[in-house]
Amino acid sequence: MSKIKEIKTTVFKWVGPVVPPAQNFCTNPTDLLRESEDKMKSFRFHKWLVCEVIDEDGIVGIGNAALAPEVTKKAIDCYLKNLIINEDCFDYEYLWEKMYRHTMAWGRKGIGMTGISAIDLGIWDLMGKIKKKPVFELIGKRTKEKIPVYASKLYSQPIKSLQDEASGYLKEGFKMFKMRFGWGPKDGNEGIKKNLNLVNAVREVIGYENDLMLEAYMGWNLDYSKKIIPELEKFKPKWLEEPVIPDDIKGYVELNSLGSIPIAGGEHEFTFYGFKHLLEMKAISYIQYDSNRVGGITAAIKINDLAKKYNVPVIPHAGQMHNYHLTMSHDNCPFSEYFPVSKVEIGNELFYYLFKGEPKPKNGFINLDDNVPGLGISINDKYKSSFEVVE
Ligand SMILES: [Mg+2]
Repeated sequence: MSKIKEIKTTVFKWVGPVVPPAQNFCTNPTDLLRESEDKMKSFRFHKWLVCEVIDEDGIVGIGNAALAPEVTKKAIDCYLKNLIINEDCFDYEYLWEKMYRHTMAWGRKGIGMTGISAIDLGIWDLMGKIKKKPVFELIGKRTKEKIPVYASKLYSQPIKSLQDEASGYLKEGFKMFKMRFGWGPKDGNEGIKKNLNLVNAVREVIGYENDLMLEAYMGWNLDYSKKIIPELEKFKPKWLEEPVIPDDIKGYVELNSLGSIPIAGGEHEFTFYGFKHLLEMKAISYIQYDSNRVGGITAAIKINDLAKKYNVPVIPHAGQMHNYHLTMSHDNCPFSEYFPVSKVEIGNELFYYLFKGEPKPKNGFINLDDNVPGLGISINDKYKSSFEVVE
C-alpha cells in the first residue's frame, strides 16, 4: 500500500525553433471546410502535459497527455485530482473506475478520458517505481526479445525529398514505413493522381519486400475512399489508416468489408467500450489506441485482451514509453509505431525534447531495459530553456 499525496500538473509549451507549415503536408478533418488558411493548424500541437502522481514517500510517477494540454490540466485540477488524493496507488482498477464514474456525464471520451489517462499512466509509473520493476513486468512481462518498430513520418512533400527521407530510414535499417497523403475529396482526380504519385515514389525506394502503411488522418470521406482504394491496391499497403472521421463507424465498416486494404484506426477512440463497439462491428483490422488518451494502461490492457479474442492486432499510436510497455507485454501487439527524432514540426517530436529515457531504434527494433523501473522516462533538462512552463 502507498497513499497518493499529491497530483501535480504542468503544461510545457515549446518556444524553440519549429519547422514552418508546408502546403498539402497531410490530409486532416478540416480539409472539407471552406477554409483555405493553414489547414493543419488545429492538429499541430506544441504543448504537452506532464501529470506527476506523488506518493507519501515522495516517489513521483510520471504520466503525460498530448491532447489539448491546458484543458486536460483543468479537468485534472478541477475534477479528477481530489478523487485520487489519499487513495492507495495499487488500487488502480478501483481508481480508474472512480474517475470514470465520477465524470460519467462529460468525461467518457475526449478531454475527460485524456485526463484520466494522464493520471493512470502516473499511477502505473509510480507502482513500477515502488515495486522497482518496469511497467511491462507488472502487466504481462516480456512477450518478445525486442519490439519491431516502423518509421512513421513521410509527410506529403516534393517527390525527391520524400524519396530521400524514405531512403534515410531504409539505411537506418527500418523494414516498415508509414506515409501520409496530401490531397483529399476537394482536390478531385488531380489530387488522386498526386496521392498515387507519393505512394509510388515511396514504393520505388523501399521496394515490395518492406511494409508500407498509408495514413489519411481523417481527411477523406467514404465516397473518396471508395474511389481511391482500388487505385491504391496495386501498392500492396499493409493498411490504410483513418480514411474517414472516427464518428463515421459505418464508413469504417464499409471500407474494411471491401477486404482489399485492411483499415486501421483508433487513435481517436476511447476506452474498452469504444473498442468493443469497433470490434463487434468489424470496423477495423488494426487497433491503434494511444494509452495517453484511451484511458491509460488500465484501459489498454483490457483492449489488448479483447482484441486478441477478435484476432485484431494492436499497434498503438506513437511509440513512446507509455505504449512500448503495452506492446512488450502482450502477444497481440506485434510491433509499434516510431516517430523519428526530428526538429519540432507537427508536435509528436516534442516527446523527445521533453522526456529522456526513450529507447533509440537499432535496425528497426527498440528494446526496453529490464532494470529501469516504471515507465522509464524523466523530464529532460537539456531543452529546458526551449519550454515555457505553466503550472
Ligand atoms: Mg495516425
